[in-house]
Amino acid sequence: MNQFQYVRPTKQKAAIEAVTKDQNTLFIAGGTNLIDLMKRGVMNPEKLVDINKLPLKKIEKENNSLRIGALALNSQVAEDKLVLEKQPLLAQALNAGASAQLRNMATVGGNMMQRTRCYYFYDTALPCNKREPGSGCGALEGFNRMHAIFGFSDKCIAVHPSDMSVALTALDATVLVSGPKGERRIPFTEFHRLPGDRPEIDTNLERGELILAVDIPDGPFTKNVHYLKVRERASYAFALVSVAAALSLENNTIKDARLAMGGVAHKPWRLTEAEKALVGKPATEATFKQVAEIAMRGAKAFEHNAYKLKLGPNSIVQALKTAAGIA
Ligand SMILES: Cc1cc2nc3c(=O)[nH]c(=O)nc-3n(C[C@H](O)[C@H](O)[C@H](O)COP(=O)(O)OP(=O)(O)OC[C@H]3O[C@@H](n4cnc5c(N)ncnc54)[C@H](O)[C@@H]3O)c2cc1C
Ligand code: SF4
Repeated sequence: MNQFQYVRPTKQKAAIEAVTKDQNTLFIAGGTNLIDLMKRGVMNPEKLVDINKLPLKKIEKENNSLRIGALALNSQVAEDKLVLEKQPLLAQALNAGASAQLRNMATVGGNMMQRTRCYYFYDTALPCNKREPGSGCGALEGFNRMHAIFGFSDKCIAVHPSDMSVALTALDATVLVSGPKGERRIPFTEFHRLPGDRPEIDTNLERGELILAVDIPDGPFTKNVHYLKVRERASYAFALVSVAAALSLENNTIKDARLAMGGVAHKPWRLTEAEKALVGKPATEATFKQVAEIAMRGAKAFEHNAYKLKLGPNSIVQALKTAAGIA
């Protein structure tokens, strides 16, 4: 491991200033992703700004939303009474991630910022445009079993690994950030980016911006929700495909719906056309099959991930059936 400096400010302003002014300086929260990447030489910051002394851990009711601090632990959020009552889809997604030990360390801000699990990204002996821009994409012609079927580019076909972020995308959350230019809000659907020509950039955060909290608007999705994660082991494994499904039902008619997928793109993949197609329809398997077809339009597989073209729609149907209580 390379040598690095470490500071632990107690003021938000000092933390932001430290990351803004020193090149190659990063925030660190739970450390469950960043330390791994540093040990493997994938990321080599010269300075770490530990944010754990900042007061960003609270989960509280706002006027018409729920605010979750960036330092709230994944386990704390998943077990929180308000979250379980108002946003059970988020709790389900969090519980599907990692392991109990990791959820006890991992924070909300760190979870959103975790980097792809593409094997080529983690192996410094192999080419990877995300790790080393211009070196090529090993996965494009290589072993691409875990990779994207939507929104990829010829520079990168990686997927975003966070389960929590799939639920937050579906639930229309916004991210509150503070940086050298002040505070701003970023809709969750615009927080992560597609790879395009710059796969080394994962999000639309600017240099020095610190995630303060995530706000989730109150909505009708308190009962008929389901986060389905298909993976190779029951724990400690990332999604091959996941689906966050939320329905608002009245006499079995769908009044409103939210749908997003994980494991299929460089960012959590919101399915707005499919959501529109659900509204006004009966909550039946036939409806869900039609909608799954709409959701998969434009999907394209590589040599080793064609199974996702079938697993994707099947998972959407299964998640919607479970959310509707007809599974
Ligand atoms: C074995 C294993 C299995 C896993 N399985 C899953 C899984 O199935 N599903 C899943 O979703 N995740 C999984 N994870 C990932 C885990 O959820 C993340 O490592 C964790 O959420 C990262 O949070 P952290 O607080 O530890 O982040 P850190 O490692 O501290 O930081 C990660 C990144 O976020 C940045 N950062 C942190 N906080 C902020 C902030 N407030 N503002 C701006 N930037 C910030 C840091 O600079 C860093 O770049 C797994 C991890 C491991 C090791
Ligand atoms: S898919 Fe992206 S992360 Fe993986 S090797 Fe290609 S450029 Fe790197």
